[in-house]
Amino acid sequence: MEKKNIDWSNLGFGYVKTDYRFVSDFKDGKWDEGRMTEDDKVVISECAGVLQYAQTVFEGMKAYTTQDGRIVTFRPDLNASRMADSARRLEMPVFPEDRFIQAVVDTVKANAAYVPPYGSGATLYIRPYMFGSNPVIGVKPADEYQFRIFVTPVGPYFKGGVKPLTIRVSDFDRAAPHGTGHIKAGLNYAMSLHAIMDAHNQGFDENMYLDAGTRTKVEETGGANFLFITKEGKVVTPKSNSILPSITRRSLMYVAKEYLGLEVEEREVYLEEVKDFAECGLCGTAAVISPVGKIVDHGKEICFPSGMEAMGPVTQKLYDTLTGIQMGRLEAPEGWLKVIE
Ligand SMILES: *Cc1c(COP(=O)(O)O)cnc(C)c1O
Repeated sequence: MEKKNIDWSNLGFGYVKTDYRFVSDFKDGKWDEGRMTEDDKVVISECAGVLQYAQTVFEGMKAYTTQDGRIVTFRPDLNASRMADSARRLEMPVFPEDRFIQAVVDTVKANAAYVPPYGSGATLYIRPYMFGSNPVIGVKPADEYQFRIFVTPVGPYFKGGVKPLTIRVSDFDRAAPHGTGHIKAGLNYAMSLHAIMDAHNQGFDENMYLDAGTRTKVEETGGANFLFITKEGKVVTPKSNSILPSITRRSLMYVAKEYLGLEVEEREVYLEEVKDFAECGLCGTAAVISPVGKIVDHGKEICFPSGMEAMGPVTQKLYDTLTGIQMGRLEAPEGWLKVIE
């Protein structure tokens, strides 16, 4: 298969229209068989449930070319089950998990010419999503839905080297204690846009959100979970019902314990104790781990000993191990890589 003529290492993180996308419609209580289409346009009613009441959920994952030239996706079964959880919480029909995985495989395969080559630093971002498509004006769930998957090649996350982030403790809340913070829904992002623009305007890269109930515990940023490393080298991640269960974070905790022999702990993390950690990172599909160099809490600065030039040593090991697994340089745990054949 001939690759597209793309300057892979200079790609940014933006939308590039690729050749094929998967579409399936839910109508009269069931999903149709689905189809691959070249049509990138969505035509829905002006009164569609998604447009009026934001009834939409999504996923984000990647396909990689491994060292030995295979195309793989990373733990798509976890994206399938998380999307099912998201759909149930918003009263949407679940797109069957086995069909989700098959549709991801089919869409990547159809667009194989867009999967960046090994070593380019670029990857193929995969975006499954679904939304209520029929007219809804009284507040209730839609009766008809569309499930779609498109893919888009994205560039290396850290162009020109890793740069630790400066983040601030936000005065805005991301998620209510019994709300929707744990599902991957556009609604959680819409309300974070003001907070992130405000953070950027004040010179910060990201917001650290605290638990809305007590505002004493660390939750996550707008789109990534926290990992902290203690001075003794233990890996700690915040536990809360309103954090989005990151697949990268769960994988890193496994890698820390099983590959690197580190102690790991998922527990409540108080803002008050953050100053005592040695390293801090943000984890998600996009960057795997972005190191945090500094956290600013209303003028009070917490500077991690790992500094503003490089990832901390433990963070770096975690990053190298997980990306090594994803790129086929290290042996993956059973079931983690789904090979696209
Ligand atoms: C998607 C997302 C993450 C990261 O999850 P991954 O599965 O690791 O990509 C973290 N936080 C939020 C709010 C998210 O939406």
